[in-house]
Amino acid sequence: MGILKLTTEIKNHSHPRGRENPGEGLSGEEGRALKASADKEGRSFGGKVWASSEGLSGSSLTPALKQFFEAKRQVPDSILFFQMGDFYELFFEDATLAAPLLDLALTSRQKINGLAVPLCGIPLSTVDNYANRLVAQGYKVTICDQIGKFGPGMGLANRQITRIVTPATVLSQDSAPRAKYLAAFYREDDQYSLTAVDLSTGDFAAGRFNDFAAFQTAVRTLEPSEIVIDSETYDNVKNFAGSLEVLVTSLSPENFDPELGRSELISALGAEIGQKVFTGWPGLLAAAGATLAYLKGLTGGKGLRHLSEPRLLWERGFMTLDESATRNLELFKSSRDGSEKAALIAQIDRTKTPMGARLIRDYLARPLIDREQIVNRLLAVENLLSDLFTRNELIDKLGRLGDLERALSRLTLARGTVRDLVTVRTALETAPKMKDILVGSEASLLKALGEDLEPLEKLLKKIKITLVDEVPLGASESVIKNRLSPVLDDLRELESGGLKAIAALEASEKKKTGINALKVGYNRVHGYYLEVTNLNINNVPKDWTRKQTLSGAERYVTEELKVWEEKILTAGEKRRELETKILNHLKETVAQEVTKLKALAQVFAQTDVFCALAESAENLGWVKPTYTEDNLIDITGGRHPVVERFLPAGETFVSNDVRLSHSERLLIITGPNMAGKSTVLRQTALIVILGQMGSFVPAQKALLSVRDRVFTRVGAFDDLARGQSTFMVEMSETARILKEASNRSLVILDEVGRGTSTYDGLAIAWAVAEYLHDLGGLGVPTLFATHYHELTELPRHKTLAKNFNVSAKRWGQTVLFLRKLVPGGVNRS
Ligand code: ADP
Ligand code: MG
Repeated sequence: MGILKLTTEIKNHSHPRGRENPGEGLSGEEGRALKASADKEGRSFGGKVWASSEGLSGSSLTPALKQFFEAKRQVPDSILFFQMGDFYELFFEDATLAAPLLDLALTSRQKINGLAVPLCGIPLSTVDNYANRLVAQGYKVTICDQIGKFGPGMGLANRQITRIVTPATVLSQDSAPRAKYLAAFYREDDQYSLTAVDLSTGDFAAGRFNDFAAFQTAVRTLEPSEIVIDSETYDNVKNFAGSLEVLVTSLSPENFDPELGRSELISALGAEIGQKVFTGWPGLLAAAGATLAYLKGLTGGKGLRHLSEPRLLWERGFMTLDESATRNLELFKSSRDGSEKAALIAQIDRTKTPMGARLIRDYLARPLIDREQIVNRLLAVENLLSDLFTRNELIDKLGRLGDLERALSRLTLARGTVRDLVTVRTALETAPKMKDILVGSEASLLKALGEDLEPLEKLLKKIKITLVDEVPLGASESVIKNRLSPVLDDLRELESGGLKAIAALEASEKKKTGINALKVGYNRVHGYYLEVTNLNINNVPKDWTRKQTLSGAERYVTEELKVWEEKILTAGEKRRELETKILNHLKETVAQEVTKLKALAQVFAQTDVFCALAESAENLGWVKPTYTEDNLIDITGGRHPVVERFLPAGETFVSNDVRLSHSERLLIITGPNMAGKSTVLRQTALIVILGQMGSFVPAQKALLSVRDRVFTRVGAFDDLARGQSTFMVEMSETARILKEASNRSLVILDEVGRGTSTYDGLAIAWAVAEYLHDLGGLGVPTLFATHYHELTELPRHKTLAKNFNVSAKRWGQTVLFLRKLVPGGVNRS
């Protein structure tokens, strides 16, 4: 009956949180019943109640409860929101579990075999809010809706599971920029495949790895909100998934099937793209199949039309920053308190739109490695920096846009609201002006963005003729323009009392009967009536039916009046139905243009990022780096953008020059604790990364060449944030740097070798330095801060190594830090 099986391909869901809690601690036969519980106000609802719905079935159940159990059986690991009229009700253990989590009153309305059924409920319109709160606490929520017409006296409603809310499918209106990936892991022999979909934006990423560590890094960088794995996969994959502290769902192995993957890809991306992606990579096909089938199940079988063509995580064209570099350099999170505020991103993220906020994070996470592309981005920033008028105009326009990408996702998943339509309308209204500004720009990148921008005037027109200009906040008010639909206009007229129709009827009855004093009236008990004073009763036609007698008059109804009454009383409902139909049609029309609209969102996002980078450059006094082919890092007056900002009152930041050239490849940097060694190392890496993402840099002057990778390795002693300061981790990461670094990389080594005994540590540090110095005969540009003063001996043997120190002076008992990087090693004293 009515309950759709959504999860046919998906079996064996499992949930990390035990759901056994209600009823816990009870014993024996009584164990199924909780002793008289009390609701939030302390009212007891008496007697014993059912603790669990398990095993309850059969004739004792009402038909609605039978539907409840059927739905529950399909998605046993989730909390079921079961629609009953204007409410979603939660029953049994769902109610006892959720009521305290959601601050709802726990009550009961019915009994089975003498035991009360626990119950709590929420109004329909609040479903997202409550579902999201449960998901945030680690639960899945299943929404079971009434389908089709229903109402009092209409018998049992049809019900269907329409969607399942999990961390990856929360489509709330919040505009947190962070992506919410659903990732699937798949391992075949020593091949690790990873696919990840952000349902809220349609982003689709994929990667395959021969190396478990590289796979783990890729996953950690994506920070998935939810993971699916094959229930029979290898232990290392299972354990890793479990260690990430997000919802993990195990699916039976048949969900990971390359053929299923192919058909899911075709249905999501269309035949042309779906047919060709991941060809020859069965592991990726398998992971993609599981991801897409799972998402389809959660979203009620809705298509995933807004998905982008998958981007490959090993894509050339970008610098891959591994997890340890991202963390050590505090690109997105400060290691002290985990906040964004004290991280690099907060200094540059001055974006105005959620799309821009996401894109600037992507730019920072994946700097470019193509010189021409880098220079083009820098020119766009420079152009906006110098042209304040244009920049302000763009910023003003961007500030009005909402989260177009997420609005599109909701619309294509048939979960769109009127607000989402307004977001699309605003975007389309902004588009033509934005295009003009961009096309007029001198920077080729901005000009190209303008040329790519397609204003979609027809679609805008459709939205504008349909939606009222100022969409009211109240849900019951009409949002459709007058004169769009004559039928709708008539219904509205009827809904507001049908004054016109009643007046016309009154006039025609007067004429027919000749009773000029005849009046049409309305009261709650009798509805509409014709009132005739006693004087005129004799003229009343035979077919009128008497309804009510007053002292001086009689009231009647006629067939025609009854018909009007019916029309007037049902007008509101019909009006709402018709509006929903018109709105759904409009939403679908918008959804069909999703590809073009997403392209538009991308243009906005890029424009936003360039404006933000121009603003940062201006406010922070940064300069445009110059790129040379010389394999050079030559920074004059470099600064650390975050340390500089959060310096204690009264202190000023001391800028430093850093030069790594053909003759100076490896700088050994010594100096006392707290002198500023780590700061100078990190600022150099940050300047390199900022430049390659297309940003200006915190320096007086920077002459750079493109780096293929930036590696950082911070000795366990300094790497407090990590917590697992084991020597093994340090060594394996160092080994990876040695394996992967090239003459075009930048390596930052900060106190490497500290995680072990002095002698071993020194031996390791020396060997690592020598190796990097010698690599390929050219050496790898490296900054090596160390407390091993023995390392200052290295330049005697190795010509490209140079000693530097961050200077300090002894001033009586205290040390005065000069914070200047100067040539030469310091000696031990
Ligand atoms: P080290 O690595 O040599 O122990 P750090 O680089 O961690 O020292 O710096 C310690 C502190 O000194 C920083 O937190 C910062 O407050 C201050 N500092 C470092 N470099 C500078 C600088 N160039 N100008 C001003 N203050 C600095
Ligand atoms: Mg340090």
